[in-house]
Amino acid sequence: MGLAPGSKRLNSNTRTHSADKPKTMTVTQDQFRTKLEELPRFKLSHLNTPLEPLDRFKQALIDEGVEVPNRMLVKRDDVTGLAFGGNKGRHFEFEIAHILEGGFDTVININHYHSNQARFIAAGCAKAGLKYHIVSHDSLDAPLTGNLLLCKLMGAKIHRTPLEYARQVADKIFKDETEAGRKPYILPDDPFADVMGMIGFLETGLELEQQLEEADVSGPVRFWGLTGRSIAGLRLYAKNRGLDWQTTACQYSPGEVEDFQQVTADRSSQVAEMFDLEHSLDNDDLQVLSDYRGPAYGEPDDRVIEAIRMVAKAEGLILDPNYTGKAMSGLIGEFRAGRINSEESIVFIHSGGLPQLFAHADKFVD
Ligand SMILES: *Cc1c(COP(=O)(O)O)cnc(C)c1O
Repeated sequence: MGLAPGSKRLNSNTRTHSADKPKTMTVTQDQFRTKLEELPRFKLSHLNTPLEPLDRFKQALIDEGVEVPNRMLVKRDDVTGLAFGGNKGRHFEFEIAHILEGGFDTVININHYHSNQARFIAAGCAKAGLKYHIVSHDSLDAPLTGNLLLCKLMGAKIHRTPLEYARQVADKIFKDETEAGRKPYILPDDPFADVMGMIGFLETGLELEQQLEEADVSGPVRFWGLTGRSIAGLRLYAKNRGLDWQTTACQYSPGEVEDFQQVTADRSSQVAEMFDLEHSLDNDDLQVLSDYRGPAYGEPDDRVIEAIRMVAKAEGLILDPNYTGKAMSGLIGEFRAGRINSEESIVFIHSGGLPQLFAHADKFVD
């Protein structure tokens, strides 16, 4: 990979390397709390989300002859509440407040027709009284179901366009809204949108530290989820608290693992600076699996369909085909391949995404 050791962000003094690191003090829970409280916030979620056992799922794996850890649990970030819930409910509490603080009255977003992020901004904008345009690309004839339907219900103006014109369409909306005397905000242009997801999951770290103690989980823990800001925020929390928490992130779309690791390390330096943290993330802080991402973004393979069925049947827990089903197919796949260390308790991060399940109903027909 092409990372120069002296490259800009990584040279920042917030970054330390475990090998040459002197014994340092860990950041206190109170420091995280205080810094979180200082940030403007617009409430969208019911927090804390529950941490629940996955005992019947664990038993189903044991019945297959798979070696499993003593404790397997799920962090239910699918039940944040608003608009069918999900991890974006945490992220956008900070983002909507940030938009309101900037005095904007209109939000312009560019994303896929199946985007959970697009749905949450629709919900946040509805609640905050902001006008919302979603430039929805990739599938001009996607049926009005799942997230797209919910966006429409919550008042989003949907502009369907081929991907290559998405930016032009957004710029035109920006111009028209400005001329009409409004103050529009193009979400993907604001760097804050890249770090708020990690910030949202620093708070998840606070919740989990307490919940794991209450659940009597001791020893090493492995958090299992998807590539993104959420799991990175959790790892950043753990690293600065000196906790024995490891993370595995399954990819859900094409892309180089090294690129994700690099972007994540860069973002973590920004968050570390904002929160006055000792450590940011190194490229090898997150284990990333690329084997379970399926044929394309938004397209599940057979293992994902099997994982969704298996967990639903064992636990009454519903996963989605684009994200959490992929993460779960990764967990099941790695268990079956004997690559999971059974000394580590597993906590599966259920990050939401449920409305998109209904857009894939045909894949569940017998
Ligand atoms: C957006 C999303 C993710 C991953 O992205 P983050 O950067 O962590 O927010 C994972 N799961 C679901 C359901 C999502 O919508």
